[in-house]
Amino acid sequence: MQAIDNNKLVIHKSQWQALLRLGLVRLPHALLLTGAPGLGKRQFAEQLANLLLCERIDATNATPTSCGECPGCRWLSADSHPDIRYVSPESDDSDDDDSDGASATEKSPEKAVSPTAKAKAKKRTRASIKVGAIRELEDFVFVGSHRQGRRVILITDADAMNNIATNALLKILEEPPATVYFILITSNKDRLLPTLRSRCRQLAFARPSLAVATLTLRELGVPKGSEALLSLAGGAPLQVQRWHQAQKIDGLKALLKTFQQPGNNPLALAARWDDLLKKDDQLKMEFLVEAVQRWVVDQALASNTRLNSATFTGWRGLLQSRRAANHPLNQLLFLEELANHALRATGIMASPGQVAA
Ligand SMILES: [Zn+2]
Repeated sequence: MQAIDNNKLVIHKSQWQALLRLGLVRLPHALLLTGAPGLGKRQFAEQLANLLLCERIDATNATPTSCGECPGCRWLSADSHPDIRYVSPESDDSDDDDSDGASATEKSPEKAVSPTAKAKAKKRTRASIKVGAIRELEDFVFVGSHRQGRRVILITDADAMNNIATNALLKILEEPPATVYFILITSNKDRLLPTLRSRCRQLAFARPSLAVATLTLRELGVPKGSEALLSLAGGAPLQVQRWHQAQKIDGLKALLKTFQQPGNNPLALAARWDDLLKKDDQLKMEFLVEAVQRWVVDQALASNTRLNSATFTGWRGLLQSRRAANHPLNQLLFLEELANHALRATGIMASPGQVAA
């Protein structure tokens, strides 16, 4: 973890204010950070952990900053602080491939970064947090801290906890020591048990305005021009940053161009998508389908079109496409169908005699 506390992102301004209005002393002991992927919940959690573990912090200050120099700050940035625990989904041996980042979950630091651990961490789309991982926290929570200070537990993808794990956590949350802080992160808060949600103070992260998102990209050091991809990322700047780090920007810009100039021929559009998929093995079919859906929604919102029955038919076709996207039997055929649906749903292509089935 980097000590990035002194560079808080502009995108998080309101959350910091809401949380620290009364200083760290009044911070709730169980926090739940919610919102879509790519809005920097993980960065926020790490910065907050840094504040909590800095040994020179003024806990009554409404805008505290970590010093970056004390043992707490140094250990944290070296990933060796004894008073923080990370919990994230463990992967089963599934053959999911999350490498296109489309369903990106916020990354977690792997404690032992062996090549296998890395490969495994990549494949954790459907991984879960099991009860063992929560029970391991009990010792940490109920035995004293190493530094006689605060302790932090950071749970990423908290919705991946199964019910047994959630109940074990609820038990710990019943009476945690005053110096222990839980920070839970989720992009799917509806999947959390209501009892857990109600036990935490929720802090929502919303899609920022284009201006704030663009500013955030600059703060993150993402080069100019990449903000065009915000529309593919649901407005989430940290998603664009991940694409930048994975060198996907150019391929995605090419995809974006097909939405900006789609033409009105589904076969031609499908051929362009097919070409992109073949040329760029980082671009995955599932991501493309998701991007197409996003494009259709944005079109509808931008044009204020009222959805008619033809639109709905196109829409339903898109949803079916999405389900089939993992294993299309014939890629080009599948893409032609997708283009057909998309052009109809956006109203670019008329659909004479179209009746909603
Ligand atoms: Zn410090």
